Amino acid sequence: MATTSIIKPIKCKAAVSREGGEPLQIEEVVVAPPQAYEVRIKIICTSLCHTDVTFWRMKEGPMAAHPIIFGHEAVGTIESIGENVDEFKVGDLVVPTFMAQCNECIDCASERSNMCSKLAFQIGHGMPRYGTTRFADAKGEPVNHFLCISSFSEYTVVDVAHVTKVDPVISPEKACLLSCGVTTGVGAAWKVAGVETGSTVAIFGLGSVGLAVAEGCRLRGASRIIGIDLNPDKFELGKNFGVTEFVNPSELGERSVSEVIIEMTKGGANYCFECIGLASVMNDAFKSSRKGLGKTIILGVEMHGAPLCLESYDILNGKSVMGSLFGGIKAKNDIPTLVNKYLNKELELDKFITHEVNFNEINKAFDLLHEGKSLRCIIWMDK
Ligand code: NAD
Ligand code: ZN
Ligand code: ZN
Repeated sequence: MATTSIIKPIKCKAAVSREGGEPLQIEEVVVAPPQAYEVRIKIICTSLCHTDVTFWRMKEGPMAAHPIIFGHEAVGTIESIGENVDEFKVGDLVVPTFMAQCNECIDCASERSNMCSKLAFQIGHGMPRYGTTRFADAKGEPVNHFLCISSFSEYTVVDVAHVTKVDPVISPEKACLLSCGVTTGVGAAWKVAGVETGSTVAIFGLGSVGLAVAEGCRLRGASRIIGIDLNPDKFELGKNFGVTEFVNPSELGERSVSEVIIEMTKGGANYCFECIGLASVMNDAFKSSRKGLGKTIILGVEMHGAPLCLESYDILNGKSVMGSLFGGIKAKNDIPTLVNKYLNKELELDKFITHEVNFNEINKAFDLLHEGKSLRCIIWMDK
């Protein structure tokens, strides 16, 4: 078994965020060896999820922990292993995930929860078991982690509970998509909402998360999938993911989105998914859901930390609201299943990749997402 004493620190390139909202800087960092229950991963490629952008924009407050290495959607190979790691060997193809699965706690044992309570979800600025960082900059100053992953680095150290081995038959950029956004959307449709054949669905926000919800609903046989987005370019794109109708909130004049959805669906949609991260839109989604059975599923991370206020009478009328991190997915159980569904040509992944850039051009990925041009932009470490 490898011990940390013979594993050396690695010097490599990382995209460091030094100030909220400012371009990332490619710097040389030192990545410490993995400690017990940790592995060091050589990242093959990573992509940008809106959650990175939300935290990158933060200029102050406890969540703005600069300098920090963002990135949590990625794929790589195991470069070295710390003590007490039996699950992985050097060279394994792995997908890191921001949600842990320790397989020891009662929540990991539960079929209904994906919220591991031993390594509880945290934005985290260090390693989940120890709180310490494995990154230092050229001056030897510590650099923070993000979401227990920090994949905007050629090498990163991740806790074993946050790592899933995948079949190397899948190409790395497709596996990368399963590390966060696509899995969250598909999982939300299948595991959280439990969308069934013939359902009417409204999806607020047609980024990768929203369109992955659509893909999940399409595969479940939803009869109507209404996409709501301010960006008209997303409408044509959405058709490839099963979106059947579109609503642009900026083109409704005096009418509210919920009025329009309620009229289109003669009373409200069965399932409304919020995939943007705005409390006001979460409210619109809830209002658009059908009395008696309508479920609103919140996936967006509220960008400004705004509270959500709902009418209790609406809840009494049988509407419910649920939220989910990572679409209810348990990484180690469910990601290999999604890989198989992709390899069996059931789940379509290729269409989520709209752009590819080299690691040195990582700031372009931010521009593309900000301008609404990309779904997922694959950032290659070595191409
Ligand atoms: P994205 O930027 O690719 O997509 C967001 C979409 O929303 C865009 O198409 C944009 O045009 C649209 N939009 C923005 N404001 C709007 C408004 N007011 N009305 C209508 N449309 C609007 O983002 P993404 O990567 O798909 O992520 C979407 C959300 O999901 C983010 O909040 C992200 O943080 C969150 N997220 C959550 C989880 C989870 O585990 N719950 C996982 C991944 C991402
Ligand atoms: Zn994400
Ligand atoms: Zn657990």
